[in-house]
Amino acid sequence: MPDIGFHSQLIEAMKRRATPAGTIERFVRHLRALPAGSDLPCPFCFALGRDGTLLEQTKTTTILSMRCASCGEQVVFRDT
Ligand SMILES: [Zn+2]
Repeated sequence: MPDIGFHSQLIEAMKRRATPAGTIERFVRHLRALPAGSDLPCPFCFALGRDGTLLEQTKTTTILSMRCASCGEQVVFRDT
């Protein structure tokens, strides 16, 4: 599973969509409880009480683009 930098970028993506703080907190606990090597869960599906998995789409040296297999939402991670 991607490292903690990915977690913070997922949380930023949730905040940009005005996800309630309580939902973000539950998502963070969910992320931390995942076993090593787990797929990255989709934050947008999680907010709706669904299961979604982010799948890698495009990867460059500075950007990793992932798309949810369930809802089709895209998340772009930047290597900062
Ligand atoms: Zn999703």
